[in-house]
Amino acid sequence: MTNNGKTVPIPKVYPLTRETVQEITGDPCSSVSRAAISNCLVCGSIPESTGMGGTARHAESMSRLAEKVEIHASLRLLKCPLCGCFYALKGHAGPEEGGGEGGTLIRMQPSEAFELLLKQKAKAIRREGDRWLLAW
Ligand SMILES: [Zn+2]
Repeated sequence: MTNNGKTVPIPKVYPLTRETVQEITGDPCSSVSRAAISNCLVCGSIPESTGMGGTARHAESMSRLAEKVEIHASLRLLKCPLCGCFYALKGHAGPEEGGGEGGTLIRMQPSEAFELLLKQKAKAIRREGDRWLLAW
C-alpha cells in the first residue's frame, strides 16, 4: 500500500518482555572481551566512562555508534556496529547541540544493556526501523 506514492513505515509496538529485549541486545549471556573493545576501530578510543565534556572530545567516534534505543529523551542506548558493545548516553551530547554541557557516556556489555532495558517500567516498546523507542 502506498500513500502519495511513498511507502510509509509502520511502527510496530511490542510488550517489554525478555524476548523483545533480547531481540534488541542479543544474547544476554554474551560479552565483548576487553581486547575486542580496545582493538575496535570504531569505539576503541572511547573510554569506559566519560563525563561532562568528554562526550564532545569523542564526538567523532560517537557519531559512528548506532543509536539503538531511546529510553527517554535524555537516556539513550548506542551500539557499536563493529564490536557489538553498548553505550548508555545520558543527557545531551554531540556537535549538533552547539556547545551544550555535554552528557555522560558509559560502556556496557550486552548483558548490562539487557538488564537496563528489562528493568524499565515502560508500557511498551516501539520499533522504527533499526531504532526502538520506549512508550511510557
Ligand atoms: Zn566497538
